[in-house]
Amino acid sequence: MTRDSREPFLKTLLAVSSEGTARKHLVFSDVDLHREGRQVGYFHIPHSPDDDAWGTTRIPIAVLSHGDGPTVLLEAGNHGDEYEGQIVLSEIIRDLDISRLRGRLIVIPAINLPAAISGKRNSPIDGLNFNRAFPGDPNGSVTQQIAAFVNDVLMAASDAFISLHSGGSSLDILPSSIVHCTGDTSHTERNLAAAAAFGAPVSVVLDNLGDTRTAASAAMTAGLTTVSVEMAGQGTVSREALTICRRGVPSVLGHLGVLKDVTPATPTSAAMLYEVPGPAAYVIANADGVFEPLFSIGEPVEAGQVAGRIHFPSDPGRAPLDLRCQQSGIFYAKRQPGLVRQGNCCAVVASRAGTASRA
Ligand SMILES: [Zn+2]
Repeated sequence: MTRDSREPFLKTLLAVSSEGTARKHLVFSDVDLHREGRQVGYFHIPHSPDDDAWGTTRIPIAVLSHGDGPTVLLEAGNHGDEYEGQIVLSEIIRDLDISRLRGRLIVIPAINLPAAISGKRNSPIDGLNFNRAFPGDPNGSVTQQIAAFVNDVLMAASDAFISLHSGGSSLDILPSSIVHCTGDTSHTERNLAAAAAFGAPVSVVLDNLGDTRTAASAAMTAGLTTVSVEMAGQGTVSREALTICRRGVPSVLGHLGVLKDVTPATPTSAAMLYEVPGPAAYVIANADGVFEPLFSIGEPVEAGQVAGRIHFPSDPGRAPLDLRCQQSGIFYAKRQPGLVRQGNCCAVVASRAGTASRA
């Protein structure tokens, strides 16, 4: 890489954070955000472990650009054990006919690469959850530096953000698009329309209990139209979810006006809008044991019904403990491993939007 080829990109690296404070980044890249065409390369996080004094952790990134139009930032591998999005974004990087673009895609298929190549939710380098690391720290650990670069440079250069998740190794989730609400009604409506355009069986209003350290929250703070999705899970690749994701991502890009000649997915209808309004949606283990779910994903449940039981095979004289649903709705997510410990999320009940009723 020549100095000249880096210069345009390096000019973008002195960014302004969401707090309005200039933050200097150590990250460098071999792709130029401002060049037309298809570029596939890396951005490098300086990383100096025992066996590599002046090395980097390099994160794959592609810039696909053609003509004038919006910029859409797409991420997968935010959690390393969530795979459908990683496959679909890699396919887009390789196969998308860029003459169909009217604008720019910044595509990062394994954004927390250390987690992705180890098949783990969190980074094995610093133990951090990328989706709890925003707005990041340009002088922090590897995960914090990736988040800071995404926050300050890539989100600042984008109009919309698509974040592809699944339930990972610990959950199985009904394939769904997530509706992100903000205090700005028109912004929320943009997010809702983008989520519907994905064409998942359901859309769910969900805010991670109000956590502002997520990538989606950072994107909304930056004013981006924001949609994320949850594609099954179980630490594997769901054929059904992969089909939905392969159809849904181009459909959202068409909706956003950055990709033409798209066959749109059938939009998720308003009747299939659910919400996870708060703690009452979560069924949390209150003992260590073996969890038996009493419902399958997508089944209707009523407030007060037993969602599942915790068994105690090591203490067989002890009766199982019932875990009850606190609201009516559908069994939106359930724990994948049989073993549970106190505090584990065993299930999530999503209610029809505006109808949450407590037990
Ligand atoms: Zn995730």
